[in-house]
Amino acid sequence: MDASLKEPSAKPNAAASPVLPEALLTIDGVVRKAAGGKTYDVINPWTGTPVGQAADASAEDVDAAIAAARKAFDETDWSTNHEKRYALVKKLRALFEDNRGRLSDLARYEAGAAMAAVNTAHVGMALNCWDDLIAVFPQVTWEEDRGIKHVYGADHRRMIVYSPVGVVGAITPWNVPLYVNVGKVVAALLAGCTVILKPAPDTPGMGAIFGELAVEAGFPAGVLNVITAADPVTAGETLVTDPRVDLITFTGSTGVGRRIMEKGAATLKRVFLELGGKSAKIILEDTPNFAQDVAMTLLAYHAGQGCAVQSRLLVPRSRYDEAKAALKAAYAGFGDNWGDIDSPTHIMGPVVSRKQLDRILGYIDIGQKEGATLLAGGKPRPDKGTGYFVEPTCFVDVTNDMRIAQEEIFGPVLSVIAFDDDEDAIRIANDSDYGLSGGVSSGDPARAMAIARRIRTGSMSVNGGMCIMGDLPFGGVKGSGIGREWGIEGIEEFLDSKVIAVRL
Ligand code: NAD
Repeated sequence: MDASLKEPSAKPNAAASPVLPEALLTIDGVVRKAAGGKTYDVINPWTGTPVGQAADASAEDVDAAIAAARKAFDETDWSTNHEKRYALVKKLRALFEDNRGRLSDLARYEAGAAMAAVNTAHVGMALNCWDDLIAVFPQVTWEEDRGIKHVYGADHRRMIVYSPVGVVGAITPWNVPLYVNVGKVVAALLAGCTVILKPAPDTPGMGAIFGELAVEAGFPAGVLNVITAADPVTAGETLVTDPRVDLITFTGSTGVGRRIMEKGAATLKRVFLELGGKSAKIILEDTPNFAQDVAMTLLAYHAGQGCAVQSRLLVPRSRYDEAKAALKAAYAGFGDNWGDIDSPTHIMGPVVSRKQLDRILGYIDIGQKEGATLLAGGKPRPDKGTGYFVEPTCFVDVTNDMRIAQEEIFGPVLSVIAFDDDEDAIRIANDSDYGLSGGVSSGDPARAMAIARRIRTGSMSVNGGMCIMGDLPFGGVKGSGIGREWGIEGIEEFLDSKVIAVRL
């Protein structure tokens, strides 16, 4: 029998909870406990109970990690020996392959990923994207000849040399932790930087594994350090304010990104920010299989906890009722096929924490008070287990000025908005503080392309085109961030250019 169809047990999702290995710090090539031995509980989102322990780094540990990264950058050949780095990064990738089982457990029991999401974005796609970074590395430009120019009575041969920025502080979120950690850590290492990774408090193990396996791979001490901590703020702020750290690469909420820019200003920190989103999917009236396209916008994958999810659906007013009917049928069809940790076909489990659950339920309440109509879902589901379950939820009759259309909910909540014509669709899509991703569907590819070009965003999918991959730059505009991750651009973000001119 399909596991997704089994009868609910008295305590669904609880039985299989394992004990995860303790998430330890890696500092200066040593995998160890926090100074003073402090730990904190890692909570399983399926049950709301501890599933392991993580080292709770002290200020002394953070200082030691920064000192180690600084020393490794300044005093070893890490930044200049491209071949050595490339070989070690490939070796580390192979060790991650050997640890797929542990990575899956971490995705399930730390981040709350359902099995079909584990096998896609959480582990499979994350490792494929790592391969993409390895594949593009040989295309990185390290030196560029800008030719000879005759000025001031002499010839000058000019060249540009690209070198790594230095010590990188990588601060990451809990939603797809392996994917985000790879995007930062691997790109920075390939560029020749040394790194201090600070994962989110909810997902420490997915950070700790980087340190452990880097030591096993034979990385030089101090090149890759990992600090885990229960307090979400202090260790990260130390990285942001310490003058020994040259660059902060951050993925997380827009509010924290803003604070990082402010705090980093004192040391003129270089900052890359991958922040939130409220991306719009536009389905034009001439889309073949209109109902099917609308149905596919059902927002459930990893409980909607993705920065680039299309959480605003824009449909033509002339076909709004049809869209509503298609969504009603889609949500009814999806039904209760989610929230079972053992089902290999489920794409949605719990949300990560009590805090996120309360936040999402708060927005569902706000949507109703604002006058939107709940078409599907809207309720917490404690019957799915003692963890943090909320139904896939769809609001219709939403206008773009409502908070549920403007603010990032970061949960399985779709807002459906009507538009009058192409101009109106573009206006609504762009009427957002965010600009991370989006999509447009039409039977006329030229019309869809014309719209895609006019949306102020970092990536756009036309007729389902896959715009997020490890060999393509990813990032946002406006409140969605600054800088690009992944692809050659993602490695080059960690490089500085230097001009050298020789008088001939
Ligand atoms: P968050 O901003 O609360 O935390 C992110 C990280 O920053 C965590 O490691 C946290 O401990 C740390 N942090 C918190 N306060 C800090 C401070 N003052 N100084 C330094 N570090 C600090 O975000 P979250 O709740 O973990 O993740 C959800 C958010 O991340 C969503 O808004 C989502 O859109 C965003 N996100 C964006 C992308 C992207 O690529 N654009 C990808 C995934 C998630």
